[in-house]
Amino acid sequence: MDFGIAGRWALVCGASKGLGFGCAQALVREGVHVLLVARGEQALLAAVEKLRADPARPAQASVQCVAADITTVQGREKVFAMRSEFDIVVTNAGGPPPGDFRNWDREVWIKAVDANMLTPIELMKATVDGMAARGFGRVVNITSSAVKAPIDILGLSNGARSGLTGFVAGVARTAKLASANVTINNLLPGSYDTDRLKATIAAGAQRSGQPVQAVTQARTAAIPARRFGKPEEFGAACAFLCSEQASYITGQNILTDGGAYPGTY
Ligand code: NAP
Repeated sequence: MDFGIAGRWALVCGASKGLGFGCAQALVREGVHVLLVARGEQALLAAVEKLRADPARPAQASVQCVAADITTVQGREKVFAMRSEFDIVVTNAGGPPPGDFRNWDREVWIKAVDANMLTPIELMKATVDGMAARGFGRVVNITSSAVKAPIDILGLSNGARSGLTGFVAGVARTAKLASANVTINNLLPGSYDTDRLKATIAAGAQRSGQPVQAVTQARTAAIPARRFGKPEEFGAACAFLCSEQASYITGQNILTDGGAYPGTY
């Protein structure tokens, strides 16, 4: 299927690896010009090289990057100084750390809310009205399956991302955006094989005194697909949400979790 987005411009945050990279790769393969953002310059440049060398990249799709912390005002200014108009925005940053809420003070909460709620909202504020004026726009927020099935030790993520989810449910349904072909959706990953997941599993193994392999097996056994997701699979779902064909899908929370969420709705 031709997604009809070749030549569009995408901003993909948290894109040097993992799920963000998967989204950038899928969009580049659709012929989209992509600006990748992450803090670490070395990994970012390596990601750009990999995308430019991708044989599936149509020649006209350009790949650029900017090293910036997307959760800061200065970081976002740096990004928008590179280019101010985007047709597609994928919001993403690292997830907050696990822990016990008894140990989190206001500063810890503000950091989590800043990264996982206010930053995506700032990115939407900076882009969606321009998208509406041009008659095309797609925002995909990478959130988490924890929004639907909260994980006890990830209270910062459960809380901050639920705030974003509530905001998106309202803003995506405003006629000013929806009638102008601007869609805003949240993509909810279950367990994907990324550096973040590896770090979570290693920490779990250390906490429980079990080998990493045993923790990995227990995690995959709890997923009906019996495996972790691949960032390419996540990227493909993201690219579809950014397609012309997905213009009637907005304000949705789409789980991509190999069947792990056990509910009907
Ligand atoms: P990852 O492999 O650790 O990759 C995170 C990416 O985001 C890296 O490119 C990182 O580069 C960048 N990043 C982090 N903080 C940033 C910031 N402040 N500004 C700009 N870029 C930043 O993580 P992932 O597994 O792809 O996860 C992506 C998101 O999905 C996270 O929010 C995570 O909590 C969520 N999630 C993941 C899973 C999973 O199974 N993988 C499940 C549920 C939810 P730098 O560090 O160099 O900036």
